[in-house]
Amino acid sequence: ADHIAGIDRARLQAIAAREAEAYAAARPETRAALDAGAEAFLDGVPMHWMKDWPMPFPMLVAKAKGAKLSDLDGNKIDDFCLGDTGSMFGHSPAPVSKAIRDQAQNGLTYMLPTQAALAAGQLLTQRFGDFRWQIATTATDANRFALRVARAVTGKPKVLVFNGCYHGTVDDAMVALEDGVTVTRAGLTGQVTDLTTLATCAEFNDLSSVEAALATGQIAAILTEPVMTNSCMVLPDPDFHTGLRDLATKYGALLIIDETHTISSGLGGYTRVHGLEPDIFVVGKCVAGGMPTAVWGLRPEVAAQYARYNEARPSGHSGMGTTLSANPMQFACLTATLSEVMTPKAYARMEKGAKRLAGGLARAIAAHGAPWHVVRVGARVEFICAPGPLKNGTEAAAAHMPSVEATLHTALLNRGCLIAPFHNMMLISPVTKKRQIDRLITAFDSILTELFA
Ligand code: PMP
Repeated sequence: ADHIAGIDRARLQAIAAREAEAYAAARPETRAALDAGAEAFLDGVPMHWMKDWPMPFPMLVAKAKGAKLSDLDGNKIDDFCLGDTGSMFGHSPAPVSKAIRDQAQNGLTYMLPTQAALAAGQLLTQRFGDFRWQIATTATDANRFALRVARAVTGKPKVLVFNGCYHGTVDDAMVALEDGVTVTRAGLTGQVTDLTTLATCAEFNDLSSVEAALATGQIAAILTEPVMTNSCMVLPDPDFHTGLRDLATKYGALLIIDETHTISSGLGGYTRVHGLEPDIFVVGKCVAGGMPTAVWGLRPEVAAQYARYNEARPSGHSGMGTTLSANPMQFACLTATLSEVMTPKAYARMEKGAKRLAGGLARAIAAHGAPWHVVRVGARVEFICAPGPLKNGTEAAAAHMPSVEATLHTALLNRGCLIAPFHNMMLISPVTKKRQIDRLITAFDSILTELFA
C-alpha cells in the first residue's frame, strides 16, 4: 500500500506538489486573468470539463498552429492532445482555414443544402464506404440519431454497449457492469430514468456475454468503438469483430461502429483498415478539420428499411436533427479535410511518428522497470500505468491510476508537452515533428527517472 503503479507514494506526492507549484509559477498572467474574468462562467469555466484537467488551474491558450500551442504567459507547448482528436490533423490546417475564409463571404448557416454539400457526400462515400449519410454537429448527436434509427428499423428497445465505453453524452450508453449486472452509472447529473431499461452492458472481448444479451431479443443495436479508447486503451481480440458482426446478424441487431477516435487508425478509419462491416458508421471530432461536425451513415439496406419505416411513421417530430447541422461552413471544412487533409500521405506521417513515440515510451518504461505498458492504434498512443494487455473495461478501470496520471500530466506539461486529460492519450498529427516526439519521450523518461529512483 506504500506503492502505487510501482511508485513510492510519498515520492509521488512530493513530486506532484512540486510540479503543481512549477505549473502555477510559470503562469502568473493566466492566474491574474482567471481571477479577473472567470466569474461570469458557472464554476469559472465555459465548459465544465475544462476544470477536470489535472493542472491546478486551467491554461488559457493564446494561439495554436500545427502541433503547437502557446499560452497567455508565453509558454510554448507541443500539443499531443490536439483537442482530444478534434484537431488530430493539426490546428488550423491550411486548406480548412482557406475554406473557412471563402465560405465566410457567403453565409454561415441557412438550413438548406448547397452544391458543395453534394460533393461532400460523394467524398464521404469515397473515404468511408457505401453509406447513406447525414450530418450532425457532434459525435454525441450522431450516435443518438443512429440509435433512433436502429430502434426504428428493428422495433427493439435496447442498445448493447461495452463496460467502460464512452460515446459522448448519449444517455443510453451511460450504463456499467457491477458484478456482472448492468447498472446506471453513478455519477450522472440529475439522472431520473433507469437506463437499464434502455441499455445492456457486456464486456469487451467477451462474445458469450454479447450473445447472452442478444438472445433476450431486446437488443436493437450493438454500439461500439473498434478499439476501446476511452478506458485506457483496450484492443479487440483477433476474432472479436467478426464475432460481433455474425452475432448482430444472427439476432437481428444492427452494428453501429463509432469511429470518432479510431479514425486515427488510417484512411477510412479502423473500419476500412480492418475490413469491418458496420450497419451504421459514425465519426465526428476531426472529420471537418476541427469545425464542429459529425457524420453518420446507414448501409444501403438499412437506409431502405428506414425509408419504409418512415412511410408508416405518424407525422410530427422525429426527434432527429439540430438547427445548425449540415450548414455550409461544415461542408466547406468537410470537403477541404476529406480531400486535402485526411490523405494517405498524412496518415503515413502520423503512423510513422506514432510508432516512434510508442517505441520510445515503451523503452523508457522497460528501462525503469515500471510495471506499465503502451498501446497504439495508428496515430493514437496510450501509456497505461499498469501491466497489460488489458482485455476489457473492468480491467481498464482497475488499471486507471488517477493520482499517478495527474502527476505525470502536469510534469509533462511543465516540460512543454500537453497530453489528453482523463487518461494518457497522445496523438501524432501529420505536422508533428520528430523533435517534438523525441522531446516528449525525453520528458517522460526523465519523470520516470525521478518517480522510480
Ligand atoms: N464517440 C467516441 C468514441 C468518443 O470518444 C467521443 C468523445 N470523446 C464521442 C463519441 C463524443 O464526441 P463529442 O463530445 O464531440 O460529441
